[in-house]
Amino acid sequence: KVSKADNDLRKLLSEKRLKGDEDRRVGSEVFDRLTLETLYKLAKMGHINKLQGAISTGKEANVFKGIDDDGNFVAVKIYRVGTSDFKKMQYYIQGDPRFNVRTSNKRQLINTWVTKELRNLTRAQEVGVRVPRPIIAKNNVLVMEFIGDDIGNPAQLMRQSKISDPEYVANKILEYVKILYKDAKLVHGDLSGYNILIDDGEPVIIDISQGVMVDHPISRELLKRDIDNLYRDFKKMGLQISKDQIKSKIMDL
Ligand code: ATP
Ligand code: MN
Repeated sequence: KVSKADNDLRKLLSEKRLKGDEDRRVGSEVFDRLTLETLYKLAKMGHINKLQGAISTGKEANVFKGIDDDGNFVAVKIYRVGTSDFKKMQYYIQGDPRFNVRTSNKRQLINTWVTKELRNLTRAQEVGVRVPRPIIAKNNVLVMEFIGDDIGNPAQLMRQSKISDPEYVANKILEYVKILYKDAKLVHGDLSGYNILIDDGEPVIIDISQGVMVDHPISRELLKRDIDNLYRDFKKMGLQISKDQIKSKIMDL
């Protein structure tokens, strides 16, 4: 199914312009018309020249490797309107002072969600957290820096990679969580070895769409969950660090 999507898009995007109904029909077997139009627009703007393949097919989003007009790899995250958790999105967005969205329109919620991910990435980057550099958010599509090697192999998840210096990686992650909290006033909210990539031995935090500001009613609960997850992951990496130690490293001034 994914390689079909991929083929359709490669074909469609290589045209780099909106074509007639026939092409749209081909594409819409996998992506809905609005998603295709969004991809066309991003292609016209030069952000996506080709889509090369799926890096990941998740429950709510697919992530593709793409190439922009300058020949750089990009990561293209495409949210699927059909399988997203709108109740959750609505709840997270409503408590966020940055957004004044009182809608139950599903497309609008997803678009806001994608904007939220871009803004969280920007904010994280500004305070010095290593994340994929956000490039553009449009409707249900987010284009960002591709994390991986020069020839286009995506970086591995922390959870699935052999880490040569676990202590270094763990300390770096805790430093990131700390400056995210103290300087960016953000809590990631889904932090674990499944949302951290290891690039050349360096942790890179990804998937920050659900991240909330610290004054969001759910931020405490999310921070606790992030700490619990990191505790388990660090333990699996062979590190002996308690939850309290993790907490004090994060909260320590
Ligand atoms: P899922 O439903 O599978 O959890 P998700 O919505 O959590 O997907 P992400 O975690 O943002 O989406 O991305 C899914 C996967 O795509 C990641 O685990 C990672 O392997 C890959 N990925 C995401 N962003 C990038 C990137 N910028 N560079 C390279 N790979 C990426
Ligand atoms: Mn994820």
